[in-house]
Amino acid sequence: MAELAINGGCPLSTEPVNFLSWPPRSEKVADQLRELYLSGKWSFNGENEQAFSKEYAEYHGAKHGVFMANGTVTLQSALTALEVGPGDEVIVPGLTWIATAMAVRYVGAIPVFVDIEPTTLCLDPEKFEAAITPNTKAVIPVHLYASMADIERIGTICARRNLKMIEDCAHMQGGIWNGRGVGSWGDVGSFSFQQSKTLSAGESGICLTNDDKLAELMFRVKHIGYGNSDAQGGARSGPPSGLTCHNFRGTEFQALILRDQLRGLKNLIAKYNRSARTIRDRLADFEGVRIQSPGRLATEQGFYAFPFIFDGETTQNIPIQVIQKALAAEGLNLGGTYGPVYSHLLFNLRSNDYRIADGGCPVSEHEGTARALMAPHQMLGATEDNIDKIVDIVAKVVTNVHELRDIKLD
Ligand SMILES: *Cc1c(COP(=O)(O)O)cnc(C)c1O
Repeated sequence: MAELAINGGCPLSTEPVNFLSWPPRSEKVADQLRELYLSGKWSFNGENEQAFSKEYAEYHGAKHGVFMANGTVTLQSALTALEVGPGDEVIVPGLTWIATAMAVRYVGAIPVFVDIEPTTLCLDPEKFEAAITPNTKAVIPVHLYASMADIERIGTICARRNLKMIEDCAHMQGGIWNGRGVGSWGDVGSFSFQQSKTLSAGESGICLTNDDKLAELMFRVKHIGYGNSDAQGGARSGPPSGLTCHNFRGTEFQALILRDQLRGLKNLIAKYNRSARTIRDRLADFEGVRIQSPGRLATEQGFYAFPFIFDGETTQNIPIQVIQKALAAEGLNLGGTYGPVYSHLLFNLRSNDYRIADGGCPVSEHEGTARALMAPHQMLGATEDNIDKIVDIVAKVVTNVHELRDIKLD
């Protein structure tokens, strides 16, 4: 008799297990948005933008926040302000959303892909150091999915080798590492508030920095050259000669939504951390499933997604798509990871406009892609009963993985 639902056994859940509904919505914010709409004050460094930038920077222990249209132009603006451009190389992890690498290209520099750690799926500091050349100008570590990049070691290497560090915190709104917010460790921290992220306004992003000069430059880059204290239409000074400035502005509507969500962020992260701990603890003894980042979690870890890595002795020979189907049949829908940037369908840089570091990115390809499935962060917002059910489903599939041996992919 088969145990697994994919083989005709009884599913652990007849309906897909419910996650937290996303993005959060409330009548209160809907009313505030209506009022803002009627006020006509929709953009140009308004009240909500100023307040949110300040509140968000404070939350993360950074001095300045510069609010922008999305979490790609934040990276681009940071690179521009740090004077990264043609002829420079910027090291990025092999596994991340393509924006991390494309932003490097937007300023005319060369993204160099370096492999990740198999436990955290974040940039490997040793491989990072080995990939540095005389052209390397900066590095963009990403706090990926459910884990913390080793920014202390990467930061030490940057200081020693005279490189700039931009933290890509698109996955880690509200993260606190060693008493200090993520995004305040590097020269700049870049965040995205795109619809799917843990702080969500449809689109927008922010750069954090402790450096007065960088804050001023990034503000000018995103605001067509205007300075922070300029009134609309009334520039009192121009941008430095040669600084490429854009319109990368966000809107008051986004900032208003984000101010409200920021008030609930600590609680949301606490709930996510409780759920993640339950899942980790309960799956710790199961052969064949590994949870990302057993070794490097922030004090308050932020989450974009929650990866399960099926690379143990019992599961490694079963195609990941078969495991995915078996989980879905029990009621748990998991998706794949981003996959290596240079293999992504949307990644279309010419071969001389990027580089893969010597040794390639085997961990990004294997642990980070071929053996990984993941749930969006909303899974961690599920009720305690549902978190238990999720663990039961993964445990059941892993325990009965021998039943999957003869299943063919169609
Ligand atoms: C979402 C994301 C970005 C870019 O954010 P957008 O706001 O979508 O432009 C950058 N880096 C990572 C790792 C992301 O997940």
